Amino acid sequence: MSGQDCIFCKIASGEIPCSRVYEDEATLAFMDINPANEGHVLVIPKEHGADVHEISDEALAATAITAKRVAGAVVRTLSPEGLNLLQCNGPAAAQSVMHFHMHVLPRREGDALAMNWGLVPGDIDAIGALAERIAAEL
Ligand code: 5GP
Ligand code: ZN
Repeated sequence: MSGQDCIFCKIASGEIPCSRVYEDEATLAFMDINPANEGHVLVIPKEHGADVHEISDEALAATAITAKRVAGAVVRTLSPEGLNLLQCNGPAAAQSVMHFHMHVLPRREGDALAMNWGLVPGDIDAIGALAERIAAEL
């Protein structure tokens, strides 16, 4: 899939709205609309590439650096007991959007989150409010 038809490219360009947490020249961080846990954030490079095999080293590095910053802000906002930085490649690995992204995923003791969690829409107002709280911690 090219960047033209890509939902995350459309979010990066502003064509599709998102609850933005952070943005710089190379990356964008925004709330996942189907949060696996409260405070679930996605970090993407603005450059389109389907997966880890396609993106440039520069986009990978920029995404990882933003994910680290956002992870810190999520921890300061929600004090989770743990946090996953997760990145999936290919449908068999539970990748559903073919634009490279990293999940910043707060974890709670005993939340028993499975790797292939189902997509369940969250409360959009609560997600927007949380984006503002996390952004304020950056
Ligand atoms: P993947 O399964 O590819 O690793 O993760 C893709 C993530 O993108 C899923 O967690 C899904 O909820 C999220 N997602 C899909 N479409 C949208 C969207 O339009 N807006 C936002 N904010 N997240 C999306
Ligand atoms: Zn894209």
